[in-house]
Amino acid sequence: MTELNIDKLISHFPLLQQVIALEEVVWFNPNVTTLERGLPYVGLGEQDIHDASLRLQRFAPYLAKAFPETHVTNGIIESELIDIPAMKLALETHYQQPIKGRLMMKKDSHLPISGSIKARGGIYEVLTHAEKLAIEAGLLCESDDYSKLLEPEFRNFFQQYSIAVGSTGNLGMSIGIMSAKLGFTVSVHMSADARAWKKSKLREHGVNVVEYQQDYGVAVEKGRKEAEQDPRCFFIDDENSQTLFLGYSVAGERLKQQFELQGIVVNEQHPLFVYLPCGVGGGPGGVAFGLKMAFGDHVHCIFAEPTHSPCMLLGVHSGLHDEIAVQDLGIDNLTAADGLAVGRASGFVGRAMERLLDGYYTLTDEHMYQLLSELNQAEGIQLEPSALAGMPGVIHVEQNSEYLARLQIDESTLANATHLVWATGGGMVPKEEMAAYLEKLSV
Ligand SMILES: *Cc1c(COP(=O)(O)O)cnc(C)c1O
Repeated sequence: MTELNIDKLISHFPLLQQVIALEEVVWFNPNVTTLERGLPYVGLGEQDIHDASLRLQRFAPYLAKAFPETHVTNGIIESELIDIPAMKLALETHYQQPIKGRLMMKKDSHLPISGSIKARGGIYEVLTHAEKLAIEAGLLCESDDYSKLLEPEFRNFFQQYSIAVGSTGNLGMSIGIMSAKLGFTVSVHMSADARAWKKSKLREHGVNVVEYQQDYGVAVEKGRKEAEQDPRCFFIDDENSQTLFLGYSVAGERLKQQFELQGIVVNEQHPLFVYLPCGVGGGPGGVAFGLKMAFGDHVHCIFAEPTHSPCMLLGVHSGLHDEIAVQDLGIDNLTAADGLAVGRASGFVGRAMERLLDGYYTLTDEHMYQLLSELNQAEGIQLEPSALAGMPGVIHVEQNSEYLARLQIDESTLANATHLVWATGGGMVPKEEMAAYLEKLSV
């Protein structure tokens, strides 16, 4: 993009001045609409989520045996939903503002197998590919007990095929661990910001880790190029994959069940606000899609991004989606938030979901570190920095009278609201690494 266009863009969208200055910003999109009006733009529906859910059920007997940590949930990869009342108090002190609604946390940070939200989409996409190959080869049919995939015959079969992915870390972990377990030859193309412990963990699992000195976008491109030269190699495209998106979307009906079990009501008088850390957009976008299908217009999804990587806010706010990157505005895309260091948003997710996402905000790395320490002190829960991005969301919502008026949410309805922070990663962070995160605060 030329200098002139950028100037024009800023004059059209004055909020970008603050974005460029790396200030924390909040934007509630005035163009959001109802599920009924927004759904046609997604291009996916109820049946697609249902298919994904059934596929995960078919694989459950296999997963329960292949990953003993999923035995207790019978091979279903799901996370806990908890109240965080002590953190609510800590936030009230931190922001000098009372919080009226109930504050909860979804612990995708502690999902089995790979310890992040990517255990939803990433694993699902590998399973989908494996199932397709095995069915086409006549080795498997949908009515089989999929624990037969543990037999050497299947490992030998999958060994002929390879899987490649570009990642800042967590997607690579999910895809690498799952693919290697099935027997695939798997390469993970890692961007410069990927943590050393994630790379070594993958190598322990027999994954081929390819390292780059550049960011996520470059790692993805190189991975894609390499995979193109090998017809037996399947490249997992984090930027555009509908399969990944659907794997994430199953979270909606699962959360609905958890709410029912805990007696939590979501309706017009009891709205639900969900705060989702956003990188390229597939994870939060897919989860938001599932939530919308499960709770309709009573759920409000808000995305959180680092001030140095506000790609989704930029793409949706300007309407340019993947035609603009944060680097075009001179923003460096450098952040400590794993999974969120993405300069260019998914074009698919932004275009599909923009009408169904209520808002976007950014926060600094220092802010995430501060919240990381506060959550540790208040609740004894340790997360990686990116997973804290959803924490200030409740403050933004409760403060924004214009937004609340538009939703026709009054004081008493606000007191009935549930605010859900989607904690996206951190369950597998080694002790020493976590100690270093906690120390950052004292700087
Ligand atoms: C990947 C990731 C996200 C965001 O998911 P995207 O699909 O990249 O938007 C958020 N938090 C963590 C910890 C992640 O690994």
